[in-house]
Amino acid sequence: MTIRPREQTENNKRQPMEDSSKISDIQQHRLKTVYEHLEISDDARKRLIQPKQTVQVSIPVRMDDGSLRIFDGWRVQYDDTRGPSKGGIRFHEDVTIEEVTALSFWMTIKCSVVDLPFGGAKGGICVDPKTLSRLELERLSRGYVRAIYDFIGPDRDIPAPDVNTNATIMGWMADEYGQIARRQVPAVITGKPLGLGGSQGRVAATGRGALQVLDIWAKRSEKSPQDLTVAVQGFGNAGYHFARLAHEAGYKIVAVSDSKGAIYSRDGLNPEPVWNHKHKTRELKGMVYCDASVCDEADFTELTNEELLELDVDVLVLAALENAVTKKNAEGIRSALILEIANGPVSPEADSILADRDIEILPDVLVNSGGVIVSYLEWVQNRSGDYWSEEIVETRLAQRLEREANACFQLAEDENVSMRIAAYMQGIGRIAEAIDHRETQKYFNGQSN
Ligand code: NAD
Repeated sequence: MTIRPREQTENNKRQPMEDSSKISDIQQHRLKTVYEHLEISDDARKRLIQPKQTVQVSIPVRMDDGSLRIFDGWRVQYDDTRGPSKGGIRFHEDVTIEEVTALSFWMTIKCSVVDLPFGGAKGGICVDPKTLSRLELERLSRGYVRAIYDFIGPDRDIPAPDVNTNATIMGWMADEYGQIARRQVPAVITGKPLGLGGSQGRVAATGRGALQVLDIWAKRSEKSPQDLTVAVQGFGNAGYHFARLAHEAGYKIVAVSDSKGAIYSRDGLNPEPVWNHKHKTRELKGMVYCDASVCDEADFTELTNEELLELDVDVLVLAALENAVTKKNAEGIRSALILEIANGPVSPEADSILADRDIEILPDVLVNSGGVIVSYLEWVQNRSGDYWSEEIVETRLAQRLEREANACFQLAEDENVSMRIAAYMQGIGRIAEAIDHRETQKYFNGQSN
């Protein structure tokens, strides 16, 4: 990777941009900013502007009442220079081709930041899964695999869960793929149930990885978990496991939120009974503490989601969806650090407002990479037929993240850039190097032997 000499760069913190929450604009903006710090070949720049392949499908589903509904779906394979493309499948009523494309770009960067032998992809179906019966959901999931069957595979493109998809859905999808192929092909999809070739440690991997990145930051900043208060936006799979493990490690979790509201406790809360309550009632509101013997005595205050974002805490964890912090609310953020577990939760405009206010951000492409690292370990286990204990999986996750996160922190320090730019430099630098090794630009420039 060639790093541009520092005097050629503009102030790395300020990069004003028209207010836009369109993810494709965010992606282009981030690339532009990184190229001010990283010199890569024209070939590599051109290759990274657009996805390699986009598949658009319509999926017919026979509904329980006998009617036929057609759902729109996409699979975008952004880049496969460093290996088969990899990325989750999202079920959401607001999914668009543009969103899936941007998410596939982020997957490309993420896999490279942590040095996995994968490119990036993403899939999506425009559906509110909560409106479907379980059997309708199964028919839709299987229909999606039938539609994209020719474009995926263990050496080609490997899907996984994302928002509103889970291990059960991955199991249906892997089974459908196997039925069409007339053999078991567990390595085609990761995030499967254990019985179908899933990996130990996958469920908590994203939260565990995010905590490790926070721990490394705390150590480098000479802070101890006991001195740090944390608020978590998005108490779903990733946010809950992060909060549970962070609480165990001594961080004080003072607030958590879901789409319906937030709860706050100045003395700190234990995420586990809160999670159990949420699963009983499907929401955080109305949480009565202490209704289980395992929890500590504490009083809750109900907050709005907006109020949670503006709490005066040391660490604000964003674990819900994109664009949680934009230029509209960035001035109200009072935490010292933002930990991005969701993909793209801070817009570029908010990035520069927060940088001006010295609020540090640990970026999504590094922080939430624990999930894809364990997905990679699942793929390795499926292909070798050698299945590992949870301890081995967690050790391999921790070793990789320790190495790659520390490299990012070091790059940020050496180049005096934000952690986001450092992570992109690390990721794009590797992809560009791989592109250049395959291409012929040097030959035409007369630089090759
Ligand atoms: P999830 O659906 O389990 O949880 C999302 C949570 O966010 C839910 O509790 C939902 O109620 C809440 N939420 C939605 N809008 C909100 C709002 N405005 N305010 C507060 N809470 C809100 O999803 P997840 O798997 O935990 O993923 C969360 C984010 O992390 C997504 O951006 C996803 O792409 C990213 N991510 C997840 C993984 C993983 O392994 N789960 C891996 C990498 C990245």
